[in-house]
Amino acid sequence: MSVLHLAVKFNAGEPIGSFCSRLAAAYGQSSASYFAELFHFSFRGLLNGEPRDVAIFSEITGIPVGRLQNRLIVQEGNKVRVNGHLFARRFVDPLRCKLCPQCVMERLGLYRNCARPHAKVEWMLKPMRCCSVHDCELITFKGRTWQESADFAWVVRENLKLIERGADRVEPTSFHRYLSSRLMEGVGGYNWLDALPLQTAIHFTETLGAVIRHGIEPDLETLTTSEWIDAGREGIAVTSAGLDAVERVLGEIASRPMSRGRNLLTTAFGRLAVEVLEFENDPGYREIVSVMNAVAAD
Ligand SMILES: [Zn+2]
Repeated sequence: MSVLHLAVKFNAGEPIGSFCSRLAAAYGQSSASYFAELFHFSFRGLLNGEPRDVAIFSEITGIPVGRLQNRLIVQEGNKVRVNGHLFARRFVDPLRCKLCPQCVMERLGLYRNCARPHAKVEWMLKPMRCCSVHDCELITFKGRTWQESADFAWVVRENLKLIERGADRVEPTSFHRYLSSRLMEGVGGYNWLDALPLQTAIHFTETLGAVIRHGIEPDLETLTTSEWIDAGREGIAVTSAGLDAVERVLGEIASRPMSRGRNLLTTAFGRLAVEVLEFENDPGYREIVSVMNAVAAD
């Protein structure tokens, strides 16, 4: 099989599905799945990291298999590995396509070339709720199938009117910038948080922020995107300042009158304890649990 002339560039931080999708669009194909069929591989298989499909895609693009594998979002047991970071499934959403309309519009150009804008790996994480460059809410689209949602050029083409309309601006927050740089560069610049696995760092930060804003039993299931963004902003103001600040705020939460809860932690911290205890055996959460235990016992 001969190597294709690459009409689009594989960008840093771009998922492999987005790259394949834009290549398909650049070659005038209606979908990434159809494009893949022409070259005898499966787009779904490529998204899943199936060795045969990755090998064929590597052959036609001339991009080494190792470089492609680094960009895969792969299932590992009941976790998902994204850029080397492990996440429980509830933190990753491959079934939807989230995007920043401004990032997309900047690259679409005058002729609305859908092969030009690319997806970003960070948009696949559920806690990534606003653009770390443009301070606007990300908007979410859902294709009829998983493959359609991952077919970025297709999503852009199908939703051009909505994308042109833009999204709500939000007050700048360092939470999403932190998430983005931790995910892509490994460090976020806040020592205490950087020492925790990324899922633990962002999960604890957002939930702490939600408890600060909405009380000890926030109804997390009904929070709107903008309420989550505010929770992230509030949470990172504390967690970015390190352990002393975290202990002080936990102490304030635990000192509020509270009667419910089945054990010391849930009695003192309500929903925050429930969220943390769900992952108590995962690395990073044990440290959080022991900090919370020490504060509750004081
Ligand atoms: Zn943006």
